[in-house]
Amino acid sequence: MPRAKSPHVLSFTPVAARLSGRRCSRAAAPKAKQCLTLGCDRAIAEELGVTRRHVIRWKRDGLTIWQADTIATRLGVHPAQLWGPDAWARAQLAHDAFDALARDLAIA
Ligand SMILES: [Zn+2]
Repeated sequence: MPRAKSPHVLSFTPVAARLSGRRCSRAAAPKAKQCLTLGCDRAIAEELGVTRRHVIRWKRDGLTIWQADTIATRLGVHPAQLWGPDAWARAQLAHDAFDALARDLAIA
C-alpha cells in the first residue's frame, strides 16, 4: 500500500525534468563503466550535491517544502519556478496549517 502523502509534499518530477539533460561523472569513465544515460540518478545527485540514495528516496517519497527550497536554491531558481506559483503557494499554506494544528494538539 502506498504511503499516504501529506498535502505539502512536492513531487521530485520537476527537478528531474530540469536535470534531464545532464550526464553523470561516469560519462568520462573507461568504456565498460561508462554511463551515457542523460539525467540518471547519479547525474541528478552530483548536480544537487547529494548521494544517489537521496535522489531515489526523493523520487519515491517526494519533497518537504524545506527540501524543495534547498534544491531550488542549489539550482539557482525560486521554488515557484520549479513547481509553479500555485503549487508552491498551496504547499506553503498546507504546511503552515499543519504546523498550526500540530502546535494546537501539543498544547491541548
Ligand atoms: Zn549516469
